[in-house]
Amino acid sequence: MALIEIRGLSKSFGEVKAVAGVDLDINAGEFITLLGPSGSGKTTVLRMIAGFEDPDAGTIKLNGEDITHLPPYDRDVNTVFQDYALFPHMDVITNIEYGLRVKKVNKEERRKKALEALEQVRLSGYEKRKPSQLSGGQRQRVALARALVNRPSVLLLDEPLGALDLKLRQQMQIELKELQREVGITFIFVTHDQEEALTMSDRIAVFDKGKIQQLDRPAAIYEKPVNEFVAGFVGVSNLITGNAAQTLLGKSGTFTVRPEKIQIDKAQGAAGTVKEVEYLGPSTRFIVDLDAGARLVVLRQNTDESAVDVMSMRGKKVNLSWAKESEYRVN
Ligand code: ATP
Repeated sequence: MALIEIRGLSKSFGEVKAVAGVDLDINAGEFITLLGPSGSGKTTVLRMIAGFEDPDAGTIKLNGEDITHLPPYDRDVNTVFQDYALFPHMDVITNIEYGLRVKKVNKEERRKKALEALEQVRLSGYEKRKPSQLSGGQRQRVALARALVNRPSVLLLDEPLGALDLKLRQQMQIELKELQREVGITFIFVTHDQEEALTMSDRIAVFDKGKIQQLDRPAAIYEKPVNEFVAGFVGVSNLITGNAAQTLLGKSGTFTVRPEKIQIDKAQGAAGTVKEVEYLGPSTRFIVDLDAGARLVVLRQNTDESAVDVMSMRGKKVNLSWAKESEYRVN
C-alpha cells in the first residue's frame, strides 16, 4: 500500500481551475518532486496535502486514513516554506524546539531531540544564534531541522531552495538528498527547476494546467517524454515533425531527440547548416537548421576541440546523425 493515496483531487479559485483531477500514489521513504511551470497547480496540491487548502473534490489518504478535510495540525506532515518562516526573536534551538513545545513534550526530551535535529543538518554549535545572524543556507537548514524534529511521516517542501544563489543551491540539493536518505522520511518537493528535479528525485510528477502530464523516474521523464509539453519543459524539446519527420525518419508524427544524443559533422546523416555556436567550456551547443525543415540543438563535449575550432563551425554545412533508439515519439 502507498503511504499517500491521492484520488481525483480538484480545486478551483473562482474561474481558475488550479488542480483538475490529480491521482497520485506516493511510497514510504520516497523523494518525489512536483515539477511544473508557474501556475500549473503544484503548490495547490502540496497545500491540500498539508491541509492549508480544502479540496473541492477528491480524497487524500495517509497510511490508509482519510485526511482530506483534517486541519493541518492533525496530519502527520510538516512543511518547509521558501521563506523559512523562522521566528526572528527566538534563537536557533528555541525555533527548532517550537513544535515539540506545542506538543507539550518535556524540556529535557525537547532539548535532546532539537540538538539531534541540529546535528542532522550540520549546524551543531549554532544553538544560540538568532536567524538574523545566519546565512541563507544556514537559515534553510534551521527550517529543515524545525520540520524534522517532530519526525513526521511526510515532509512537504515548497521551493525551499528558491531564495539561494546557484552555487549554494546546488550544494543544498546534494545535502537535502543525503539528509532524506539518512532520516528515511518521505519528501514531497515542489519546484519549477527541471535540473533540480532531475538531480534529487526518485520520481517526478510533471504538472501542466492542473494535471499530471507524466509520472516517472527522472531518466524516463528526460529520455522518454510522453508529450510535447514534457519534452519541452524538461530539457530541450528538439522536435521533428511533419515533412521533416517523413523525410528524415520515414514516419509521420512528432519525435524528439535529445541534444547530447546527436552526433555532428559525420560524413553521413541529415544535412543542415550550423546557425549558432555557443561555447560552454566543457561542451559546445550547436543550433543546426536541417535542410528537411527542422531546427535541432546539438550538445558536444569539447574532448579535443578548442574554442577557436568550434567557433569556426558557424555557417558550415554539416551532417547530423543519431541512433534510432534515441528518437522518441511525443505525438
Ligand atoms: P508557482 O510555481 O508560481 O507557485 P504553481 O504551479 O505552484 O505555481 P499554484 O500556486 O498551485 O501553481 O496555482 C495554480 C493556479 O491557481 C494559478 O493560476 C494561481 O493563480 C491560482 N491560485 C492559487 N492560489 C490561489 C488563491 N489563493 N486565490 C486565487 N487563485 C489562486
